[in-house]
Amino acid sequence: PVRVRFAPSPTGPLHIGGVRTALFNYLFAKKHNGTFYLRIEDTDQNRFVPGAEEYIMEALEWLGIAPSETIGKNEKFGPYRQSERKDLYKQYADQLIASGNAYYAFDTAESLDFHRKQHEEQGKTFIYNWHNREKLDTSLVISKEETEKRIANGDAYVIRFKTPVNEILELKDIIRGDIKFDTNLLDDKVLFKSDGMPTYHLANIVDDHLMETSHVIRGEEWLPSLPLHYLLYRSFGWEAPEFAHLPLILKPIGNGKLSKRDGDKMGFPVFPLEWRDASSMTISDGYREKGFFPEAVVNFLALLGWNDGTDQELFSLEELAAKFDLNRVHKAGAKFDPEKNKWFNHQYLQKQSNESLVNAFKKELEKNSTSTALSVTDEKLIKIVSLIKERANFVSEFWDLADYFFVAPTSYDEKAAKNWKEETPGLMQQLISVLTTIEDFTSVNIETIIKDWMTQNEIGMGKVMQPFRLSLVGALKGPHLFDIVELIGKEETVKRLEKAIA
Ligand code: GLU
Repeated sequence: PVRVRFAPSPTGPLHIGGVRTALFNYLFAKKHNGTFYLRIEDTDQNRFVPGAEEYIMEALEWLGIAPSETIGKNEKFGPYRQSERKDLYKQYADQLIASGNAYYAFDTAESLDFHRKQHEEQGKTFIYNWHNREKLDTSLVISKEETEKRIANGDAYVIRFKTPVNEILELKDIIRGDIKFDTNLLDDKVLFKSDGMPTYHLANIVDDHLMETSHVIRGEEWLPSLPLHYLLYRSFGWEAPEFAHLPLILKPIGNGKLSKRDGDKMGFPVFPLEWRDASSMTISDGYREKGFFPEAVVNFLALLGWNDGTDQELFSLEELAAKFDLNRVHKAGAKFDPEKNKWFNHQYLQKQSNESLVNAFKKELEKNSTSTALSVTDEKLIKIVSLIKERANFVSEFWDLADYFFVAPTSYDEKAAKNWKEETPGLMQQLISVLTTIEDFTSVNIETIIKDWMTQNEIGMGKVMQPFRLSLVGALKGPHLFDIVELIGKEETVKRLEKAIA
């Protein structure tokens, strides 16, 4: 059965790269009637950020891609928090020592630094592995007895993986195909640290095995770890899962990898977490706060590195789950386009019910407007929203698009005011007289009567319509003029015309 996981480290808010990884795992599980679980990889205590774990869960909930197994939920393979599995990992490290696939190392930080620097000075990369090590520093090569003595003595040690020499590994990645790795170029990575904690590599492999993970779907930045992970499975005698490394997410311009520091223009976290990382970037907003609909975020993330082979761009989560295919994920980096993301939000905004848009709009009104705006009936708000929504990407733009429905313009667009001719006040005065006679003050009726009046008196359309709109809206923008007139109402329309000609 398909079992996939999202295995974040709780080191900060979730960024789009992480969310996309979660989404692709979720979709893959759904597609294959499998299980998507969440495991918290918190073995690195130094990078632990309080609240990050709850944040991750909340973000996945918000997006509608919550795991079906995790902390506090169907804990079939729990605990799902690695810090609570701590005692488990040591025995696996010991197992690798016993089978000759790992060794104790007592190098000091100074000695490692020394060798690294020395290599750098010679323009070489320092590859730390047991065969190089023996050549470098014979004092590190110690007997079994000596090793045991030093451990008993309390000397600080780590357990390192013993990478085999002279092997070309031919590994398979679902997205990238066959990839070869030369084991002589691999470091002997630390598996277990002196603080009694496993490193990411060991804990990740042990848990993926114990939690019966069938596929590992993760970002391309983990590809260099693939040979080590493969070798770990082999050393334990376990069957390795299948691997799929997702393409990098790139900036819209240039070829750089998208980084958290790109901030606002390049994608935000799902929502903010009160937190500062070393680079001290202040995160004040996330997709949720910017007014993105979760469906829109899911949709644009799904297309970062995947498509269904057609030109279709809008997909519901269900549709994505039905169509998703790892074989259709691209190798090349996926460009992140903030403008396109807004387009997606625009599309989903149009799909919302007017009622739910009105509810969201009311919150904006509380922030922005006068008490008169707040007393407007829902019925009227629904009409306003249905008139302006096609111009909006976000509900937060509604007020700017609709303020004239609530308050008379306080100024008139200068460019547009040039159309205000000498004859205009007279025409507007006549218009007022016509308007006051209208009984049934509804859009179509008003339009018919005004147009009849213009035709009968041979008044050009532009001569009336533009100044009329300018008087009501303050600019030459907005939806169908007579819809505006109906909504503003007779009394207010007349008032605004009188003010404009005064
Ligand atoms: N804890 C790793 C991370 O933070 C998981 C990588 C993986 O999926 O193997 O991304």
